[in-house]
Amino acid sequence: MLKGKTALVTGSTSGIGLGIAQALARQGANLVLNGFGDPAAIEAAQASVAASGTATGMTVAYHGADMSKPAEIEAMMAFAAERFGMVDILVNNAGIQHVSKIEDFPVERWDAVIAINLSSAFHATRLALPAMKAAAGGNGWGRIINVASVHGLVASAEKSAYVAAKHGVVGLTKVTALENATTGVTCNAICPGWVLTPLVQKQVDAKAVAMKVSNEEAKKLLLGEKEPSMQFTTPEELGELAVFFCSPAANNVRGVAWNMDGGWTAQ
Ligand code: NAD
Repeated sequence: MLKGKTALVTGSTSGIGLGIAQALARQGANLVLNGFGDPAAIEAAQASVAASGTATGMTVAYHGADMSKPAEIEAMMAFAAERFGMVDILVNNAGIQHVSKIEDFPVERWDAVIAINLSSAFHATRLALPAMKAAAGGNGWGRIINVASVHGLVASAEKSAYVAAKHGVVGLTKVTALENATTGVTCNAICPGWVLTPLVQKQVDAKAVAMKVSNEEAKKLLLGEKEPSMQFTTPEELGELAVFFCSPAANNVRGVAWNMDGGWTAQ
């Protein structure tokens, strides 16, 4: 379905970004991966995405831009354009978490969470839009998918920067959708509940220590607090939602914040 298109997924060396990159590769899109990790882990991520798309003839590239730095984001977008012509599908996914009460929240952590989880999406979007709007003979074609969170819709204590950034991402999604509503460029957000990635494993580990329980018990406690299904959403499921947003059936899906959260925000 996406043969001949190029997708750039930020923060795709791990977790949700990697799952989305694999799903888009299965549909034949070329992939530009981004994110941190040691060279062997980055190599493994590239190989797993290439393997997902192996039957389609797609190719994979990697750029190590630090998403907190606008100049590096500009270099990454220029690299993608030079390598593949343009970015047809932009997935703004890179993100970090910091858990602390507001009065104890380190200022440097606040700035980092806002830069990586929110401002990076603005920078990548502003740089991707001109080519998307010019595509398809000037009618425009593009897909911008912002990985927000249930925390773009509701709050939890001790996550001020993350909740502020993710609410911002949902707002940015709506504005991007509206500014391009008469073109073939759509923008939507995905709002996962708990997904068992390194980002959440850290919170499981912290709970296990704080509650003096096993890792398995800590996972159940974490799910039980918020997620009625008592199941983690998987990167594979989120990848398939991203594929749907890229499909012709989603041509008129614009500015939604689609939760995949086991019932978290239905409560
Ligand atoms: P993860 O830690 O597995 O992956 C994060 C990715 O971002 C990694 O590839 C990492 O290298 C990259 N990254 C971090 N800082 C970066 C920077 N400065 N520049 C470039 N890349 C950077 O986490 P994840 O759970 O897969 O999170 C991915 C996204 O999904 C985040 O935006 C997160 O907020 C969101 N999310 C996660 C969950 C969850 O439960 N795990 C739930 C809702 C939303």
